Amino acid sequence: MNEYVERKVEFAWPALKRSYDVVIIGGGGHGLATAYYLATRHNITNVAVLERKYIGGGNSGRNTTVIRANYGIPEAVRFYQRSVDLYANLEKETDRWVMHKKKGLLWLAHSEAGVRQERARAEVNTAFGAKTEFVTPGQVKEICPQIDISGGGLWPVQGGSYHPEGATARHDRVVWAFAEGAMKRGVHIHQGIAVTGLQKSGNKVTGVETSAGPIGAGLVLAAVGGHVTTLAKMAGVRLPIKTHPLQAFVTNHYDLAFHPIVASTNLLFYVSQTPRGEMLMGAEIDRQPSYSYTAGHAFLQHCAFRAQVLFPFLRNLRVLRQWTGICDMSPDYSPVMGPTEVENFYVTTGWGTWGFKAIPAGGEQMAQAIATRKTPELIAPFALDRFARDRTLADRGSAGTH
Ligand SMILES: Cc1cc2nc3c(=O)[nH]c(=O)nc-3n(C[C@H](O)[C@H](O)[C@H](O)COP(=O)(O)OP(=O)(O)OC[C@H]3O[C@@H](n4cnc5c(N)ncnc54)[C@H](O)[C@@H]3O)c2cc1C
Repeated sequence: MNEYVERKVEFAWPALKRSYDVVIIGGGGHGLATAYYLATRHNITNVAVLERKYIGGGNSGRNTTVIRANYGIPEAVRFYQRSVDLYANLEKETDRWVMHKKKGLLWLAHSEAGVRQERARAEVNTAFGAKTEFVTPGQVKEICPQIDISGGGLWPVQGGSYHPEGATARHDRVVWAFAEGAMKRGVHIHQGIAVTGLQKSGNKVTGVETSAGPIGAGLVLAAVGGHVTTLAKMAGVRLPIKTHPLQAFVTNHYDLAFHPIVASTNLLFYVSQTPRGEMLMGAEIDRQPSYSYTAGHAFLQHCAFRAQVLFPFLRNLRVLRQWTGICDMSPDYSPVMGPTEVENFYVTTGWGTWGFKAIPAGGEQMAQAIATRKTPELIAPFALDRFARDRTLADRGSAGTH
């Protein structure tokens, strides 16, 4: 834990009990936010979050922190807008500085098809509650003066969409804010405890087997990121999820003068500037499904090349750090939230490359689903059984890395 945590955050680490009303597996953003909202909105505090390593050590502490609601389908726009709104109020609600900053997000088009796509994005966003407008190349240059509008002669910018509510927040502080808020209200968070099996009675989950012994549970939620298929298999649930690595990197410092977040679907990369001045970049997932955390040169080369085409100033910077997370990719690029066919076994998954922005709304809605045992209207379209019912929510173009 760093100095900020030691000095400012008031964590309490209670002794493990032998049973809880709710056991949440995974101390990432989604598990912790669910615990927080169970405690704050539903007064349910006999809850344990079990984390096999340390909280925020999974994708929630490895992402590029983009928060936005400019998705491509109505169900997603409504859901992510709820999260954008909760994020905007998170510092006030938790009394913790999570370094939330509204930056605006530019999504670039380099072809006629891309222009049509960005026009459609602006229309669907506006219709379902997110603020997005179509912008011309001239407006793109005004919003982001560092861009080479000619795209190096290879990928000229032909327009784009602008989403003024696009924001970033410091990822580990978000995790800690939810953890601290939940702990203060009596939730138990246990680090260094791995779930190794699930206890079942017929078609009902009754508890978990862990590296610290068995623990009884009235309900179990799997919030384990890229490890979800292994976990769900313990309950006998087969999920349509594949795990793919996703990499990112930062450069050394640059003048604090790069204000928006910029993404390009055609070039498959996105960039923003951290509060320290580093240029932070990401691109598409590794094609081969795997659980590997290896960060490779091929990714760096491809992503850096495309970034320099649009932003020539990046050529003078140096790569400082590169890292990887493993993402739970759903076939329709939309999340999967709610109960499964096994009683008392819930999942929050399919967060792929886009789940950081969803942490507050995902936690809030999952807490409501658990507390009331009824799926809230906002997340009903994201139920697991949509695949069996032929009601998938195809939204690949919104992933940001596709
Ligand atoms: C490089 C990268 C960039 C990204 N950029 C963005 C972005 O800009 N915007 C965005 O919205 N999203 C982004 N994402 C995606 C986002 O980070 C994730 O979707 C989100 O953090 C998922 O949160 P989670 O709580 O579901 O999973 P995680 O944060 O991965 O947490 C799961 C936890 O479960 C624990 N666990 C696993 N198995 C067990 C077990 N058996 N017992 C106990 N604990 C267990 C793990 O140790 C882990 O801590 C990015 C991801 C990566 C990798």
